[in-house]
Amino acid sequence: MASLRCPTCGHLFESDYTPAMPFCSERCRQIDLGQWLDEEHALPVDIEKHIEEQANRTLDDEDS
Ligand SMILES: [Zn+2]
Repeated sequence: MASLRCPTCGHLFESDYTPAMPFCSERCRQIDLGQWLDEEHALPVDIEKHIEEQANRTLDDEDS
């Protein structure tokens, strides 16, 4: 038996008592999933910029 902290609501819970690991409940699991989908849908430009920054960083590493 181990105490875990739910990533969605921040509550401590016992891992034996939930079917929705690593969340404290199915409700928190659905909320987390919804946040991911909302971010991908709302911020496509930011994601493209992030990928671009990662590519630039790789080029910088090759120079040094
Ligand atoms: Zn929770």
